[in-house]
Amino acid sequence: MERYLKSRLGSRSFEGVDAKRSKTMSKIRGKGNKTTELALRMAFVRAGFTGWTLHTTTLPGKPDFYFDRARLAVFVDGCFWHGCPKCGHTPKTRSEFWRAKFERNQFRDRRATRNLRSAGIRVIRIWEHELRSPQSVQAKIRLISSALIPGALRHSSRKKNHAADA
Ligand SMILES: [Zn+2]
Repeated sequence: MERYLKSRLGSRSFEGVDAKRSKTMSKIRGKGNKTTELALRMAFVRAGFTGWTLHTTTLPGKPDFYFDRARLAVFVDGCFWHGCPKCGHTPKTRSEFWRAKFERNQFRDRRATRNLRSAGIRVIRIWEHELRSPQSVQAKIRLISSALIPGALRHSSRKKNHAADA
């Protein structure tokens, strides 16, 4: 799948995209942009969360936030780059190129989620647009908060228990 997408994208990734646009795109590329990430960070601080690290490069998909003790990874996915079904759109020019790029990002996201989960790490993915209103930020904080409580942790090690039973 990835090889296929790569062949469609080729190595001349930004051919046909003008320099200014390319620069703008590169600023917002990757996962959620800086503003949304900062909003979430501040909400974490207000909620009293501790023990998280930013951009853990040693884990699959480089989670934006990783709660080590809780073994919980949180991603903020930019709506444009990750092809959000609600607000993502494919640019009209070179749409084939962009579609392939979004597909590849989504493929990588799914693979990272799968790899993390099989390593016993829970994953919460948040769309950039879900951080636009204080209400939806609060909803995400509640979700993360419940994932951080010890009971939820035990639930996540289900797989391990099954292995022990067998
Ligand atoms: Zn969106």
